[in-house]
Amino acid sequence: MIPNNIRSQFPILDQQAHGHPLVYLDNAATTQKPLSVIETLDAYYRSQNANIHRGTHYLATTATEAYEKVRRQVQQFIGARHSHEIVFTRGTTESINLVASSFGKRYITAGDEVIVSGMEHHSNIVPWQLAGATLRPIPFSDRGELDLCAYERLFTPQTRLVAVCHVSNTLGTINPVRQIIDMAHAHGVPVLVDGAQAVSHVPVDVQQLGCDFYCFSGHKMYGPMGVGVMYGREELLSELPPYQGGGEMIETVTFEHTTYNQLPYKFEAGTPSVGDVLGLGKAIEFMQQLGLKNIADHEADLLRYATDCLLRLPGIRLFGTAPDKASVLSFLVGDSHPYDVGTLLDQLGIAVRTGHHCTQPVMDRYGIPGTVRASFAVYNTRAEVDALYAALERILPMLM
Ligand code: PMP
Repeated sequence: MIPNNIRSQFPILDQQAHGHPLVYLDNAATTQKPLSVIETLDAYYRSQNANIHRGTHYLATTATEAYEKVRRQVQQFIGARHSHEIVFTRGTTESINLVASSFGKRYITAGDEVIVSGMEHHSNIVPWQLAGATLRPIPFSDRGELDLCAYERLFTPQTRLVAVCHVSNTLGTINPVRQIIDMAHAHGVPVLVDGAQAVSHVPVDVQQLGCDFYCFSGHKMYGPMGVGVMYGREELLSELPPYQGGGEMIETVTFEHTTYNQLPYKFEAGTPSVGDVLGLGKAIEFMQQLGLKNIADHEADLLRYATDCLLRLPGIRLFGTAPDKASVLSFLVGDSHPYDVGTLLDQLGIAVRTGHHCTQPVMDRYGIPGTVRASFAVYNTRAEVDALYAALERILPMLM
């Protein structure tokens, strides 16, 4: 059960937007932050701020210990074998770019192929193109389910990697990543999982999944912006060249030659966002205290309730109706443009996202310009779904 007073931990929710109580349903874009995370950032800059790893003084040592403690916390959170398999980045986008750049330099040459799914975020498409790979997309059904038979047929001797999202940010589909990974490994191909939309909704155990890389962002799991994680299997990370050069990632530097630091520091060049990493640790604590299963159950209830409500309205078309879905509801109202719907909802205090959600190939697949997307988090309520329903009912005559 989620405690009734959960919303009191999220001060931002208690405000008006355009004269109406704010109903925040844009959680797939970013979640709001609980007081414990906000206070951690405040406390860090009040009493702990120092550059880490290189200092001998008190503040540098405490900041370093706190930072490294979160690495171990993340390791446990996603079930990694070693804490040095956890690399802190700025977010999912940087995590995927890191792998595309380093893995790409080592293993991808012109004509090589990367299998992605047809529902990837641009962050899991463009980095592979920049790395010089040819993309082979896995098609998906009208309901938003990947076609695994077609996937099997995509493997060729040129396939270097499979890169798929765990949960689609547009359709909500929870992809069968375990099966996708097993199938890739049967061909000797490693797999990167984009977990940006998964970590706050489904329990993740990277060893059980067997994935080679797993990427996610702090800000989509109640943590701060500007911090994310790239998990990579030790054997692979050890072989890969560094992503960026600079401080901390080196062992020795001369003008002729540089040797690199051990994992994970080889991939963490420059001063990291220490306060944000500590905030990420608090966000993990926040979710674990509530219980991931409780969060998932609460969101599943909201998704079912919202789906039933919306389908009672005339002219609603849902996109993404796979049985295994996270709390994302993409829809269109008749032939109305999603921006019009989003703007009218905003005037009534309802925050949803409109557009292609950085998944233009998904829009092309359905032949639509974009969708309206409502996405739920642990602090949302059935009353807020009612507010969305009432607002849609009210604006329908203006749209039809
Ligand atoms: N992948 C998916 C599935 C996403 O939903 C997002 C964020 N919308 C990203 C990648 C990129 O995440 P970030 O902007 O935090 O780097």
